[in-house]
Amino acid sequence: MSPQKSTKRYIYKNQSLYSLIDRVKLWPGRTGTLHGIKSVTRSEGRIDITTHCGEAFVVWDSRSSRAARWLRNRWFKKPCPACKIPAWKLEKYHSTVFTDAQRKGGKR
Ligand SMILES: [Zn+2]
Repeated sequence: MSPQKSTKRYIYKNQSLYSLIDRVKLWPGRTGTLHGIKSVTRSEGRIDITTHCGEAFVVWDSRSSRAARWLRNRWFKKPCPACKIPAWKLEKYHSTVFTDAQRKGGKR
């Protein structure tokens, strides 16, 4: 039997907001609702986001924004019922490690 592979996903903390949401495909709303992201595109420092429940908005790409902080800290109350985020996606999000630096033993 092969040893079980770690399912942990590592994301570096100091990335731009775009890099974060492009990987997790989730959006922490101000009211504590976690939305699923249908599409995300970046142009000239702005990010256009469309959620699965049909909301579309533009945010500035900043690694210190509220959304980036909330996303890294997993600050949300409940997933959006309209977005129907699949359970595996939430599990993956919960097992994601937001790390400061390169992992030990990681490739350069
Ligand atoms: Zn939603």
